[in-house]
Amino acid sequence: MKQTSQVGIIGAGPAGLLLAHMLHLEGIASVVLEQRSRADIEATIKAGVLEHPTAELLKQLGVGERMQREGYLHRGIELSFGGKRHRLDLEDLTDGKAITVYPQHEVIKDLVAAVLANGTRIEFGVDAVRLAALESDQPVIHYQRDGAAQELYCDFIAGCDGFHGPSRQAIPQALRQEHAKVYPSGWFGILCEAPPSSDELIYAQSDRGFVLVSTRSPTVQRLYFQCDPQDSVDNWSDDRIWAEFQQRLANQDGWQLKKGPIFQKGIIAMRSFICETMQYGRLFLAGDSAHIVPPTGAKGLNLAAGDVVLLSRALHSHYRRNQQDALDAYSATAIQRVWRGEHFSWWMTNMLHDFEGEDSITRRFRRSQLDYVVKSRPGAQSLAENYVGLPFDAWIN
Ligand SMILES: Cc1cc2nc3c(=O)[nH]c(=O)nc-3n(C[C@H](O)[C@H](O)[C@H](O)COP(=O)(O)OP(=O)(O)OC[C@H]3O[C@@H](n4cnc5c(N)ncnc54)[C@H](O)[C@@H]3O)c2cc1C
Repeated sequence: MKQTSQVGIIGAGPAGLLLAHMLHLEGIASVVLEQRSRADIEATIKAGVLEHPTAELLKQLGVGERMQREGYLHRGIELSFGGKRHRLDLEDLTDGKAITVYPQHEVIKDLVAAVLANGTRIEFGVDAVRLAALESDQPVIHYQRDGAAQELYCDFIAGCDGFHGPSRQAIPQALRQEHAKVYPSGWFGILCEAPPSSDELIYAQSDRGFVLVSTRSPTVQRLYFQCDPQDSVDNWSDDRIWAEFQQRLANQDGWQLKKGPIFQKGIIAMRSFICETMQYGRLFLAGDSAHIVPPTGAKGLNLAAGDVVLLSRALHSHYRRNQQDALDAYSATAIQRVWRGEHFSWWMTNMLHDFEGEDSITRRFRRSQLDYVVKSRPGAQSLAENYVGLPFDAWIN
C-alpha cells in the first residue's frame, strides 16, 4: 500500500518519539515506524539520568508533568575512591542546574501517549524496513506490516533506529567516516527491591573496578559494577554479586549499601562510536543511529535529544520559511555537541574504570585526576558543567 507523509521517522525510541512530538507542535506531519510492540518499548529498561536541558525541554513540550511529579531532582553526585566519598554540589558548581533521575521507559510512555494523542500515527511491529531514493525529492521507506508490503513516501526520512537499525547503513559506505572504540570492560547491571542507599548517585572507583550506585524509585534500585564483557550472568549468584559490590564500595565512614531481592541481571558492552556524516540526501540520522557512548557519562539519551532539537528546527525552517541552510548544516552542527558528549563519556570512563593490563603510571594518573576533580573548584566545575548538560544552543555557530 502506498502512503505519504512530510517526514517518515524510523524508530520509536527517545529520538524518534521526541522528533514526532516536536514536529507536530510545529505543524509538520510525520509517521513513526517501529519494529517492536508498544508494550516492548515501554518496558525496556535503559537510561535514567536526564540532563538539565533535556528535562527543561520535556517540560516546555508539555510532556514533563509526570517526570516532575515522579522523577527525582539530584542536586549533586558523589565520587568514591581511596576509601572516601566526596560530594560534588552540581547546583552550586553550575549556577543552579541539576539532573533528573527518571527512567527512559517512563519517558517513552509519556512520549508515546503524547504522540498518539496529537494524532500522529505510530506503526508498531513493522518488519523489513528498507530506505530508497534518498537523493531524490521523494525518498521512500519500504516495509512490511502483518506480512503485507507497504511504502511510505515522504519529503524527508529521520533515521532514529538506534545503533543496529538500517538507516545509517543506507548511507553509502564511502561517504561515512566511522570512528569506533570498544572498551575491554562491560557493566554488570542489576535491579533490586531495596530502599535507596544514598540520596544521590555514587560513582565509585576501586582497585577491583568501577561501581555505579543509582536509583529508580524509593523501592527499586539500579546498581552496576564493571565486569568482563564476555562474562555471563549465570556465573553470578546473588550472594556473589552483593559480595563484589561490598568489596568495591568499602569505605572508612561506615556507609553501607542496602541490599534486597535482585529481579533483573544483565551485561552491557561499552563502546564509543561516531558516524560522520549524519545526513545523506534527504536522510537525517539522530541519536544512537549515529553515535554511541559508554554509559558512564549518562549522555546517550541526552545527545539524542540535542540532535532532535536541531533537526526539528531545521525542518521548521524548511517548511515555514523555505530556508535550507539549517538542513544543509545539520550534520556539521549536531556533530559538535556529539563530540563533546563523546569526549566527556570517554573521560569519565577512563577516570573511573581500571582496565586489565594497565601500567602503574596510568593508575596513578587516574588517582591524580580524581584528586584534582574533588579538590579544585575549576576541576569540579568542568565535570559538573558537562554532567548536567551543555545548552543545546551552545554548539550552533
Ligand atoms: C544500561 C543503559 C543505561 C543507560 N543510561 C543512560 C543514562 O543514564 N542517560 C542517558 O542519556 N543515556 C543512557 N543510556 C543510553 C540511552 O539509553 C540511548 O542512548 C537511547 O536509548 C538512544 O535513543 P534512540 O532513540 O537514539 O535509540 P533507541 O533507544 O535505540 O531507539 C531506537 C528504536 O528504533 C527501533 N528500530 C531499530 N531497528 C528498526 C527497524 N529496522 N525498523 C523499525 N524500528 C527499528 C528500535 O526497536 C528502537 O525502539 C543508557 C543505555 C543503556 C543500555
